[in-house]
This record gives sequence, C-alpha cells and structure tokens, in this order.
Amino acid sequence: MTVECQEFRQELGEWRRGHLAPDRARALERHLSGCPECRQWEQEDRAVGRLLSERLPRYSAAADLRRQIRRAAAGQPPHSSWWAAASAALATAMLMVMLFLGDFIPVRPRQAPPDPLQPLVRAVLSEHTRNLLWGEPRPETVPAALPRLMEETRIELARVFMGDDEVRLVGVQPVVLENRWGLALFYRDPADHTITYLLLPGQGVSVPDRNRVRVDGFRPMLSRVDGFSVFIWKHGGLACFLISDLVSENDLARFREYFRRIRSGTELVPTG
Ligand SMILES: [Zn+2]
Repeated sequence: MTVECQEFRQELGEWRRGHLAPDRARALERHLSGCPECRQWEQEDRAVGRLLSERLPRYSAAADLRRQIRRAAAGQPPHSSWWAAASAALATAMLMVMLFLGDFIPVRPRQAPPDPLQPLVRAVLSEHTRNLLWGEPRPETVPAALPRLMEETRIELARVFMGDDEVRLVGVQPVVLENRWGLALFYRDPADHTITYLLLPGQGVSVPDRNRVRVDGFRPMLSRVDGFSVFIWKHGGLACFLISDLVSENDLARFREYFRRIRSGTELVPTG
C-alpha cells in the first residue's frame, strides 16, 4: 500500500456520500480503477457499512439527549477535541462490532450495479442527519421564511403542507446538493421523529422503476439506506425526497401516511 492508497482510503466515506470535490472524486475513481488492492478495500468497507446498518438496531435520540449534545458542542469549532474524542470512541465501538459480527456473518458479494441516484440520496441523507443534530425547531419563523426561500431557491410551490394536528412543520432552509439549490422542510411527529421533505430541480434525475410502492394514487420509490427510509419521486420538474428513521413495519405504515399527507398537501406553481 502506497501513501497515495492511504490518502484515498481515508476519503472513501466522503466520496460515497458525494461530498468530495469533483476533481478529487475523479482522481479517486481513477486510482480505484488502477489499484486492485484499494478496490478490494472499498468493497469490503462498503459491505461492512451495509451490514452494520442492516443488523444494528437504531434508536433516535430523545429530545433531551439531542439538546445535551448540542449544548456540549455549542461554540466549539468543528474537529474540536470533543469531536475527535467522540469519533475515536465511535471508531472503537464500530471496530468491536465489526470483529464481533465478522465471526458469524458472511460478507455478501456486491451484486447491484452502481446506482446513479445514490450520490444524490447520500447527500439528501446527510442533510437530514445534520438537521437531526443541529436543527433547532423554530416553527414560528416558517411563515416569514418560506416565501423568501422559495424565491431564492426557485423552488416555487403554490401550496405547501404546513402540518396538521399530528405532523408539525418545524423548520425550513435552503440547501445546495450536487450543485443544485433546493428547499428542505422539516417536520416532527408526536414521537419526535424528524421527517425531512427535500425538493430539488429534477433535471437529469430519473427515479428507477424498481422498489416502487403504492400510496393512494402515487407510486414513489422506497429506498432503505443506512437505517433510514427514503421516498423518492418526481413532481413536475422537481425531484422530491422524504426521509425519516421510520423503518420497522409499523413505523413504515406511519411513514406512508405522512408521505400521503405531504404529497397531497403540496402543489407546484402552474407554468405556461
Ligand atoms: Zn491503492
């Protein structure tokens, strides 16, 4: 393994999440295609990540815990010692889990061809998880912010689902994903699950026909990534994503219901 290999291996996670600068991503892909060792490493890395997300139970942090984490991190620069310590602890825990799982769970070979939608879904997911950690619910600011953000992001909606007695719209913010300006709306349900509704310009995004589910008259794709459920669909010229950690069978029924309400509560501005 060369120094170059080492550098690239450290960037694999960022690359998979679509966070690497385009020229760096290209360099990494070139390296991967020429270096069988790194290719092997990447495949194993990916398989382990998938296993962890499939086999480990996940619990959403209670509101109180989230507040404590935010308070602990408030005012500290990124990559502070707090974060370094937390990452190190997490890495150790992951390693122990890997060793533990490694004994009796066979690593499945990779079967599916690379999914062109995957980098985008990764980017959408990281937006969702970032909000889980750092987002403050501020429902009172939404009515004033929404029209301005629609103008800024050019995601124009004639009608937005503003929540009901169960799901509350608690925040809205502009996002830039894969060089697209988009709009993210954050909802909370009574059990304190965050549901992110993200809208992006849909040019060049096509939603594959597989994994479609029927919800009322709609047929969104349902994708499970890293312990999250993601509905993906096109609405007029927009690519739409609905993300939550509602993954169990009961929770999924609830998530479908949220999808139905949010989808039918949203209308595009008619063009022409
Ligand atoms: Zn290499």
